[in-house]
Amino acid sequence: MQAQRILVIGGVAGGASAAARARRLNETCEIIVFDRGPFVSFANCGLPYYVGDVIREEKDLIVASPELFKRRFDIDVRTRSEVLSIDRDAHEILVRDLESGREYRERYTQLVLSPGARPVRPPFEGIDLPGIFVLRTIPDSALIRAWIEEREARHAVVVGAGFIGLEMAENLVRRGLAVTMIELAEQVMPPLDPEMARPVEDRLRERGVDLRLGDGVAGFEQRAGGLRVTTSAGATVDTSMVILAVGVRPETTLAQEAGLELGETGGIHVDDSMRTSDPDIFAVGDAVEVRDFVTGKPSLAALAGPANRQGRLAADAICGRTVKFRGVQLTSVCGAFDLVVASTGATEKALIRAGIEDYEAVHLHPGNHVGYYPGASPIHMKLLFARSDGRILGLQAVGEAGTERRVDVVAMAIQMGATVFDLEQAELCYAPQFGAAKDPVNMAGMVAANVLRGDLPLAHWKNGVPEDVVLVDVRDSDEYAEEHVPGAINLPLGELRDRLDEVTEISAGREIWLYCVVGQRAYYATRALVQRGHRVRNLSGGITTWRAAGRP
Ligand code: FAD
Repeated sequence: MQAQRILVIGGVAGGASAAARARRLNETCEIIVFDRGPFVSFANCGLPYYVGDVIREEKDLIVASPELFKRRFDIDVRTRSEVLSIDRDAHEILVRDLESGREYRERYTQLVLSPGARPVRPPFEGIDLPGIFVLRTIPDSALIRAWIEEREARHAVVVGAGFIGLEMAENLVRRGLAVTMIELAEQVMPPLDPEMARPVEDRLRERGVDLRLGDGVAGFEQRAGGLRVTTSAGATVDTSMVILAVGVRPETTLAQEAGLELGETGGIHVDDSMRTSDPDIFAVGDAVEVRDFVTGKPSLAALAGPANRQGRLAADAICGRTVKFRGVQLTSVCGAFDLVVASTGATEKALIRAGIEDYEAVHLHPGNHVGYYPGASPIHMKLLFARSDGRILGLQAVGEAGTERRVDVVAMAIQMGATVFDLEQAELCYAPQFGAAKDPVNMAGMVAANVLRGDLPLAHWKNGVPEDVVLVDVRDSDEYAEEHVPGAINLPLGELRDRLDEVTEISAGREIWLYCVVGQRAYYATRALVQRGHRVRNLSGGITTWRAAGRP
């Protein structure tokens, strides 16, 4: 019998995890990791902050060196070593040493592919001009830093307003550059539901970012001192540099050329134990197609958490353990100009795309901690759950301190198959500076449970307000005078019980839709009127969500 030789292609998130775990489970096998880059096990997620000089030293991005892998794990790490092909019949790979140009073959008993994803570079005119960058590796970030410093860059165009685009915009502003962001979608963070992206857009503009939504890049040209970016709408922006952050595609060339099956999303097809269509080849990380935990649909997830967990699972499977990857929930968080944008599970967009109709949404805007303790700020939340049984489907949250904690709680709840009734009962940390006796997570569960129990009939701004509905603003008259939804009449909650005859007269049997700032006073009013026989609905999230939904 041949000695076990585990070869790993790609030595960062998924590959390094697989290699180190394999050693922990098997002291005797040989493990070799190949990476074409100069580093392994580096912190891709820290790169924007290295550009922003928050992380000062390049060495701080390196989590583990080849020497450490050798010393601590007896793993042979070969950097600047590109794997050119896989010979499945011979169980061999062809490697090129990028320093010497030498090519050689290595035999494997099991192979792990963790080649990651490559940044999309659309074929815009001028795409290869100097000064146009993508960010994926430490050398990429070093080039960007050098360009900023050597050219004394004053302005940058960031193309794409997803995670990396936002993090880069923040860090370039931190470096003193003016930033224009160009995003083809009508919103930033395109995976989010549009009303959840609105607070982020407001924050970007408040911090001076020139945000151009609903417009794409048409091309780039060189001009004295920099570049000119032309957009599809015909606008031009002169800039010192461009960061392209328009997404990534799974790196599947090796797998494809080796005849491994790809999934419908274009990622490498794997089973629950991360095994590809070849029983001796495993694949993990950004390159693989995964199952969405909520919708059950095939999906791609370019996230470090899944890559690390999958690497560990692949090693377990190789070492003979029975494992099952549960799928991805796309739990993610991004910081942008002191805002935290976090999400887990499905968005409403994703549910619609997956053809799932059994869902309801609630919007709420609770404080991150009690209002009487200084410094409270709102967390804008959208909870999605199944109408039939209350199972939690997703949470999006945008706020400041404590936002990601709420999303993490719900992420775990989703994985455990919990319902909104479980969120109602969740017992969570509370002291005045951290939360509230009814935590935002409890509040989300309570509002959703109220809806499911029939105590809180809901309406959504995005569907518009029908003409035969009486729209009532239950805020105080001064709030109404300052701003109100066109067509709304004002019946402040405090006066409602004294003006019941008026309500009956105005409504004349028609449905009454109520709103306040966030939905709380409207809920009290809903309960008072429902119990008196009126047909009432509460507009989810109040005027705050109306503003975010673009004043439909
Ligand atoms: P990678 O970590 O990309 O590693 C793949 C490696 O394979 C590369 O080093 C590559 O050189 C090597 N390789 C590819 N082909 C070959 C070949 N043929 N031969 C040899 N070597 C090869 N995720 C989060 O969850 N949170 C974040 O905050 C976050 N921030 C990010 C910020 C940036 C700027 C970037 C780029 C990514 C960020 N990510 C974040 C995503 C996260 O880094 C990836 O999901 C994760 O690294 C994927 O792991 P992987 O092992 O699949 O691929």
